[in-house]
Amino acid sequence: MLSRPFSFDVTGEVRAFWCALASHGRIAPCAWPTRPRRARRGAQDARPASATVPHFTCSSFDELLLLERFMLPEIETNDLIAHGTLSSLLARLGEDVSEVLADAGCHYVVLEPGQRFADVSAVLRRISAGVDSWPIPPAGLCIVEERKVVLRSISPMTVVHETCHLIDVTLGGGVYLSGIEPRIRRAFNAATAFCTPYAASACDEYMAECLRAWHGEFSNDPHSLWPKATRERLQQLDPTMYEIVREIFEVTIPERAAALRGHRKAAA
Ligand SMILES: [Zn+2]
Repeated sequence: MLSRPFSFDVTGEVRAFWCALASHGRIAPCAWPTRPRRARRGAQDARPASATVPHFTCSSFDELLLLERFMLPEIETNDLIAHGTLSSLLARLGEDVSEVLADAGCHYVVLEPGQRFADVSAVLRRISAGVDSWPIPPAGLCIVEERKVVLRSISPMTVVHETCHLIDVTLGGGVYLSGIEPRIRRAFNAATAFCTPYAASACDEYMAECLRAWHGEFSNDPHSLWPKATRERLQQLDPTMYEIVREIFEVTIPERAAALRGHRKAAA
């Protein structure tokens, strides 16, 4: 236990980690900043780019060391709480997932009130996707070409579902793996029951929901009318896809993350 509170400026990844650790209750914010005021569209954000988060206490030096080695995908938001929530969810998905997504250039944008999806994506503007004029705009969107997730909601269900699309596009090398991998397409075509109704809508949603089910202990919304997506449910309903998902999280991603760390060490 660190014996005294201390102050420092936190930016970028470091700030994200402090938020993640704080939201896990692993560090105690002595003077947690108040939720930043919502910036009006077009208005100058009054806060400095690098927010000062004073007087954290940390429960162990290991956590400080963690800050140095954990790679996080970039998260664009002025909202420290949103940043912390996303970082925390990424931390729960694990260091390997985070590392692999960061290396592939995956990133997140959290929409501010009044901001539209098209405001933050050149691809959406180019293809005139019109998603902003839907009667109910989506809670989140993964833009494959930009390897970007845009979030209107930061609920665990939305963040993890969209992150699973990023995993799909990362493993597919820029296109959805679920669009090109015959085993996954066969599993989708042969499926007779799905972990959630949404999984039945298209092969990429099937992939995202099955991957989300692997992390069902924190990726379900208690208020959702859908059945809870869990490993047990996936295994019971769709053992073929369960095996593919298990291989992705237990073999493919850890091996890729280990290789990345190896390259980094060799380059250092
Ligand atoms: Zn989706």
